Amino acid sequence: MAVLDVLTMGRSGVDIYPLQSGVGLADVTSFGKYLGGSPTNVAVAAARYGRSAAVITKTGDDPFGQFVRQALAGYRVDSTHVGVSGIAPTPVTFCEIFPPDDFPLYFYRLPSAPDLDIRPDELDLDAVASARIFWMSGTGLCAEPSRSATLAALEHRAGAGTTVFDLDWRPMFWGDPAQARTLYRQALAHATVAVGNREECEVATGESEPYAAARALIGLGVEVAVVKQGPKGVLAMDRTGGTVEVPPVPVDVVNGLGAGDAFGGALCHGLLSGWELERVMRFANAAGAIVAGELACSDAMPDEALVEAKIKENKGV
Ligand code: AMP
Repeated sequence: MAVLDVLTMGRSGVDIYPLQSGVGLADVTSFGKYLGGSPTNVAVAAARYGRSAAVITKTGDDPFGQFVRQALAGYRVDSTHVGVSGIAPTPVTFCEIFPPDDFPLYFYRLPSAPDLDIRPDELDLDAVASARIFWMSGTGLCAEPSRSATLAALEHRAGAGTTVFDLDWRPMFWGDPAQARTLYRQALAHATVAVGNREECEVATGESEPYAAARALIGLGVEVAVVKQGPKGVLAMDRTGGTVEVPPVPVDVVNGLGAGDAFGGALCHGLLSGWELERVMRFANAAGAIVAGELACSDAMPDEALVEAKIKENKGV
């Protein structure tokens, strides 16, 4: 079995995004179809940097599930761990596009979704243990059996390599959102890196001020805490309390959705490359900005040359 650079676990589906900007869904007349689901997009983003990547997820037994597999193949992401569930159709997600900062999402994945039907006994534990980076998201903890499967995967990592917890907070998927903090803390105890925006950090730690949130995440067991602040840039803190603050890369925002996943894939690439934390953050920040300047998420993930060019352009070199 080949060791994966990046193995992600969680949501997959189809993003159906309006081709008109500044228009509500009630009046949109045409849409584009893209591979979606945050951990799926992170695997796509990592593959754009030449990393071997795979995703543990499930789709429905339907043509959109077929699209998910085809799209993954097109992006060179291994779909060996993409199962099929009969509990629900492949989820679709619509959004509205009101730049520069309003992008409401409309998820069609209730009462449940195939990717929440991942069971602990189906996990390929060898792949989970051996991946250089294992990436999971908070939504995977929102319901059973995915909750137990995600926690089992984390426990099985047992300190191997890098384990990233994307704090990804989608309260609408939680039957009881009040359970989240306990479960987030359980997961954080097994993670080496935590990534979230201020609201997501607050769910995990009770703190939303970036420095306090980062300190609290380190206190809960991770080695690196990353607090994303959207158009305000990013703060990262390591175990020693050392911090890196990176300002945003200016961009004409087309659709801010997907920036976080671009950031995530770039973060994986930077960590795997052994770069200093500051370089990792600058790279991930620029990757996020590039995708904020495009309509699509998965389809817009940059390669390394594009990100480096963006960094250079921002320095005015
Ligand atoms: P988010 O998940 O929306 O916080 O975005 C992830 C990262 O992408 C942010 O931390 C920034 O590095 C970058 N980013 C997102 N939105 C913008 C924006 N409007 N301008 C510049 N960078 C952005």
